[in-house]
Amino acid sequence: MFKFLKQVTDYAKGSVEAAKYIGQGFAVTFDHMKRRPVTVQYPYEKLIPSERFRGRIHFEFDKCIACEVCVRVCPINLPVVDWTFNKSVKKKELKHYSIDFGVCIFCGNCVEYCPTNCLSMTEEYELAAYDRHELNYDNVALGRLPTKVTEDPMVTPLKQLGYLPKGVIEPHDLPKGSQRAGKNPQDIVNNK
Ligand code: SF4
Ligand code: SF4
Repeated sequence: MFKFLKQVTDYAKGSVEAAKYIGQGFAVTFDHMKRRPVTVQYPYEKLIPSERFRGRIHFEFDKCIACEVCVRVCPINLPVVDWTFNKSVKKKELKHYSIDFGVCIFCGNCVEYCPTNCLSMTEEYELAAYDRHELNYDNVALGRLPTKVTEDPMVTPLKQLGYLPKGVIEPHDLPKGSQRAGKNPQDIVNNK
């Protein structure tokens, strides 16, 4: 008799536990049913990269002094600086410059240490190519101005979800005066 009662009690306890977990599961499901989808409809919608995003490197040929600092600070000695020495002016003359983005890890060291600031990181991240050799950008390709998500008329640019007001998932229509879930980069810098 005692054994039977214990079995009934254990069964009841188990049922209560199971009901609790099912309830928790449904609570999560219902909570998500209230929200809008967060999927970005790429390529019709694109997220605006953050301010210090490290995308494709831009290179200004005229500013380069062929010092090769970028090669020395690169963890894989990647930039190829092809130069000749001009004896008449006793200066190096840059012939070609290239970076292979199939190998580059976008660490930004070359940009950081270039003494003439002829390298800069852009917000361009769409570098997909059919042939890996196409990722080896020469000075002409590196000198091309970057494409911007905000300047493409075919694309709806979306703010990063971290900067949206609290509880708002739909990035298209922000209620005025609502508090942001994440801080804007300038607020972090100014300790607001
Ligand atoms: S560090 Fe700058 S100036 Fe020097 S070779 Fe590299 S890109 Fe040119
Ligand atoms: S971003 Fe980094 S890995 Fe790429 S070329 Fe510059 S230093 Fe090298």
